[in-house]
Amino acid sequence: MRQWNFCAGPAAISEEVLQDLKSELLEYKNSGTSVMEMSHRSEIYSKIAHEAKSDLIQILNIPDNYEVLFLQGGATYQFSMIPMNFKHLTGAADYVTTGTWTKKAFAEGSKIISINEIYSSEDSNFTCAPDIEKLDISENASYVHYCPNETIQGNAIHNVPNIKKPLIADMSSVILSEPIDISKFSLIYAGAQKNIGPAGLTIVIIDKEFMRLDDDSLPNILRYSQHSKSNSMLNTPPTFAWYMAGKVFKWIKNSGGLDYFSELNHKKASKLYKYIDDSLFYSNPININNRSIMNVTFVLADSDLDPLFLEESNANGLLSLKGHRSIGGMRASIYNAMPLEGVEELIKFMKYFELKYG
Ligand SMILES: *Cc1c(COP(=O)(O)O)cnc(C)c1O
Repeated sequence: MRQWNFCAGPAAISEEVLQDLKSELLEYKNSGTSVMEMSHRSEIYSKIAHEAKSDLIQILNIPDNYEVLFLQGGATYQFSMIPMNFKHLTGAADYVTTGTWTKKAFAEGSKIISINEIYSSEDSNFTCAPDIEKLDISENASYVHYCPNETIQGNAIHNVPNIKKPLIADMSSVILSEPIDISKFSLIYAGAQKNIGPAGLTIVIIDKEFMRLDDDSLPNILRYSQHSKSNSMLNTPPTFAWYMAGKVFKWIKNSGGLDYFSELNHKKASKLYKYIDDSLFYSNPININNRSIMNVTFVLADSDLDPLFLEESNANGLLSLKGHRSIGGMRASIYNAMPLEGVEELIKFMKYFELKYG
């Protein structure tokens, strides 16, 4: 039986989408094969690929002067691909470090480009995040990199900064959770396995003018413009993940788009935070204005009870609540595919557990 899955990634996919997949898993629309077994260059697959792209453009309201790429390698690959493509501009970039992922992006990027870390909240265990507009952005920065939602710590930067330098964002765990103004960014990237679909696919949304600046001395496979030129089919793309992403985009559209999910996601998160705040047994360490609506982290007053909490929650059909191994505690990832009911069940369990052991 399917249960409430709070995994941070690969994360829950809507049952509606999975049922739809099931119905065409063996044979896709009288083609004689499953989607996994067909040429990515075939007419029937091209249609799947194209439709997924245009649905994403519609859902996110992506302006015409942006390209949408379907790549591989995960968000981690982008930590290197971005500096490789743009270091030749000035040789320098600014990075904002607010958690594990931006710290990794900084470490990997530093091997390629000279990085000025203009902010780090590591001293406060990444419990806060800055207003990027108030930071000192370097004169020679080719771009500014940040992460609006740090998946592991559960912190967020909610307003998109208005800055003069090209803005790059790792949106792996927050993309499609609410509407965003794409025009403020030069490049957005996101691994698929949080809020888009199965692992293996990475979405890049890039300003075409910025894309034209990519380094032409790089091998084609590393250049955004070359992926664009071949419609993200420079080589065999992750066809199954792309097809599944398309199904998720349709599901989002049919559910009412990002306005619908934004309302739902805020409702789920505020319900859970409210319960945590009202309780003396659970607490959330993140600065209130920087709380994530996608990854809600919390600790128990007595961490000796952690194993018991995990064992009992699991037995009650609430899966994967263990916080990341690097920070401990608990984490409930409540992406689009988690219904309000799942969060209510979690709160019910947390109440029961507090009553029993608190
Ligand atoms: C999951 C995650 C990553 C890493 O993604 P991979 O696809 O495993 O490379 C990077 N950044 C953020 C914000 C993430 O949530």
